[in-house]
Amino acid sequence: DPLKAPVPKSNDIRGRRKKADKAQWGVAAPSDSANFRQGNYDDKPLARRWDHYISDEAHTRKGNNLKKAAGFLGKPGIISLGGGLPSSEYFPFEELSIKVPAVGKFSEQETKESGVILTAGKHDLAEDKAIFDIATAFNYGQGTGAAQLLRWITEHTEMVHNPPYQDWRCTMSIGSTSGLDMALRMLSRPGDMMLSEDYTFAAAVECALPLGVRMCGVPMDSEGILPDAMDEILTNWDVADRGARKPHLMYTVPTGQNPTGATASGARRRAIYKVAQKHDIYIIEDEPYYFLQMQPYTGSDGPNPPPPASHADFIKALVPSYLSLDTDGRVMRLDSFSKVLAPGSRIGWVTASAQIIKKYQQHADLSTQGPSGFSQLALWKLVDEHWGHGGYLDWLIHIRLEYTTRRNIILGACEKYLPKSIVRWNPPSAGMFHWLDIYAYKQHPLWDEKRKNVEEIEERIFMKIIDEGALLMRGSWFYADPSQKHDTLFFRATYAAAPGEKIEEGVRRLGEALRREFGV
Ligand code: PMP
Repeated sequence: DPLKAPVPKSNDIRGRRKKADKAQWGVAAPSDSANFRQGNYDDKPLARRWDHYISDEAHTRKGNNLKKAAGFLGKPGIISLGGGLPSSEYFPFEELSIKVPAVGKFSEQETKESGVILTAGKHDLAEDKAIFDIATAFNYGQGTGAAQLLRWITEHTEMVHNPPYQDWRCTMSIGSTSGLDMALRMLSRPGDMMLSEDYTFAAAVECALPLGVRMCGVPMDSEGILPDAMDEILTNWDVADRGARKPHLMYTVPTGQNPTGATASGARRRAIYKVAQKHDIYIIEDEPYYFLQMQPYTGSDGPNPPPPASHADFIKALVPSYLSLDTDGRVMRLDSFSKVLAPGSRIGWVTASAQIIKKYQQHADLSTQGPSGFSQLALWKLVDEHWGHGGYLDWLIHIRLEYTTRRNIILGACEKYLPKSIVRWNPPSAGMFHWLDIYAYKQHPLWDEKRKNVEEIEERIFMKIIDEGALLMRGSWFYADPSQKHDTLFFRATYAAAPGEKIEEGVRRLGEALRREFGV
């Protein structure tokens, strides 16, 4: 039973808090899983506090009184003449139905027997505060998202990550995009720099810049951020030279990173976490590709590996998340249904310590008001009422295999069509991206050793690939710090967007463009 795992003794916070502290953030009580409700977390330590990092903007948030007043609606017999909630008999919907392909390998019963599912699996209406029906879903709710879906999300998080401290909580986001935006508003100040992979998700850079936050790219390899390089940057941080105080935040995509496809091993994550502890870095782990972890590539026509023998095996074989290593509560994890169910659902969730989630909710109540009730009801019907936890894991196993097939197709096509004297790559082991290193760019006829015109050549090749009839993304669009000069030239390909034959043809065109440009 993962809940009985020993609590790390090294956490110096343990035992120093009064019992009363446990309830102080009052976060998401309705979302509590059965384990929360039964007090099974009492042996774990509490998260440390982050007051010194929480921004002035977040400190001034005191919560929305109208949302707080909604707490009184649970009082038996109360007649609300308070909130402006439309009456549900005027919602022009009676039912929402879904039909999904059958993918399941393991029955709910097998799942329970494997010991993975900690709670009942499918929803237990007797335990829910209210039935999740159209009347509930289509009305105003809390910034947390609906209690029923949030309970499912909390149970799922517990099952997969089982964070090693007591007062962790989940709250819903409008996808990871809103999660990151709100996290930065909470934890940064204008002028700050934030660590990230040297090449990072462009939207994260663009989200940070208007808040006055710049990325500080850390050198990386095919496992992402290099811990020694991270330590060196932080140890030798020179405020005057960098024009910013020493970073206290790190943004990272540890699995199937966008754009490089890098995936950090468990050992790498532990090493990074240690450096984060040494320099007191708060980690934002953005993990939309977490469940797209694949078997190593063994050739384009190699057999697909057999599915895991049980859900327990599936979960055990996943690289441990930062959240699962997080004894301090120094990780905010951003999860999303976007890459495994549907990006248009705009539903993700944030997991962090209760103090941080409290701040998040106060902001959500006044900005997004949480994800759409339509979306939440559709997803809840799918993942809880229809699939249960086990069925969702079956779906993840299925979708991962689909992407593995596509990953194998693109790698096979690259071997077949790309000139190895110009371009090289590491086979991605997760996610949707294949990162192509044009390592011989200096052989391009337009290379100018004096001007070091990497981006000019990148643009030229980019246009040439388009002329040939394929589109890839330019590596420079993903610079963590666009003001830094780079001496590398990459292109990002994805195997997510096109079917197998199109992927193959796209890579053939890319090969054509490279051969023409480099005259090989
Ligand atoms: N983070 C990363 C690393 C991504 O690649 C993407 C999608 N491209 C997102 C976040 C956006 O996710 P969501 O749809 O959940 O907002």
